[in-house]
Amino acid sequence: MAEASPDTSPGDHSDSDEEEALTDPRSWPLALRQLLLGDLCGEPRSLTGLLAGVAPMLRHAPPQEHPERPARLVAVYAELLASGLAQRAKHVPCRAASRADLRLVHSAAHVRRATRVYASAAAAGRALSLGEDTYFSAAHSGAAASLAAGSVVELTTRVCTGELRNAIAAVRPPGHHCDAPSRQAMGFCLLNNVPIAVAVARRRLGVERVLVVDWDVHHGNGVQNMFYDDPSVLYVSLHRYGGGFYPGTGAPSEVGVGPGVGANVNVAWSGRGYGDAEYLSAFERLVMPLARAFSPQLVLVSAGFDAAAGDPLGEMALSPVGYAHMTALLSTLAGGKIVVALEGGYNLRSIARAAAGVMRVLLGEPAPPLPQREVMPRALDDIERVRRELAPHWPCLRLPKPSPLPTPKRIKRSAIQRKLRGRWWLRYL
Ligand SMILES: [Zn+2]
Repeated sequence: MAEASPDTSPGDHSDSDEEEALTDPRSWPLALRQLLLGDLCGEPRSLTGLLAGVAPMLRHAPPQEHPERPARLVAVYAELLASGLAQRAKHVPCRAASRADLRLVHSAAHVRRATRVYASAAAAGRALSLGEDTYFSAAHSGAAASLAAGSVVELTTRVCTGELRNAIAAVRPPGHHCDAPSRQAMGFCLLNNVPIAVAVARRRLGVERVLVVDWDVHHGNGVQNMFYDDPSVLYVSLHRYGGGFYPGTGAPSEVGVGPGVGANVNVAWSGRGYGDAEYLSAFERLVMPLARAFSPQLVLVSAGFDAAAGDPLGEMALSPVGYAHMTALLSTLAGGKIVVALEGGYNLRSIARAAAGVMRVLLGEPAPPLPQREVMPRALDDIERVRRELAPHWPCLRLPKPSPLPTPKRIKRSAIQRKLRGRWWLRYL
């Protein structure tokens, strides 16, 4: 399981107490209750958006123990509040997605099935062909999914129109596995929140180029599938790949098709335990050169925090400081227009601290200094594999041709050439 320190072990007794307090609304402090219900005042002049009133998303709840649980969202909001970050942001009310917006990326049948009320969870499961991993609360999941998608659209719209500079969309259920070729709803996802916002920005707000960075530890097979032939969306996913890791897609060779060839980038990690040094090395060598060459007008982040240290599913080692640095780098693009939307992440403390690290940077604080550490050689091999796949499509990833090493014969020839320079008539002797 996770390479967790004792204080982040999911089975820890204090953790279960803490989780119980997060799940029970009666134990929420007043400010947290107000924030989750949308009654707390933020900073109206702030240019950083934070969703308020996410409480209905908590009604999407698993029938039994499940990593994608309501306490995740409460933990994030409790941390943002405790660290004073929530109070510094502009609060934007959640809203449901319009059917027209959902239809930009999903089929009419899927929109109908994913947003309705069912008589029972079993009926929903049959209608959506849900696998064992994904649940649907009969009366509430449809509304929660629509609210998650609509809220990402709302924040993205406000960023595109300049009302906000950036925003964090702490929402659930997550979305990035939704509408993969294999299945429409899968991997805890019911509607694909980020691509819906991308499609609204592209079709309705005049945005021509969007960068989607997906740092969730799982490959965003749904996002890849939606934009695989679309050159206007550069999709970059950093994820674990191989050894049966979910969902099994996301090889570096999957680079897009037709006009979209080269606009799909899979930084496929072959090992576990990768942390800040490995991720930032991938940013320095691949993500940022590609992003600068692409020159996006908007950046959306599918921000799963399940590559954070302590996550029971991801087994990676990113720290809140690492997430802050990735956010700071992405904020240098598109005039800082960036929307960070929550995907996975299942250790409550890890996701809360990671979200706070991201939020600090969005609010304009510099990313804290990062301890220097060598990049794992295996990660460098992974990065090089991706570079080789993408180099034919991106000049910025091509290595400069090495100049030939001087050999005695070459040195002698160049000495003669130097001597004869200017004596052009010697050629005619
Ligand atoms: Zn994930």
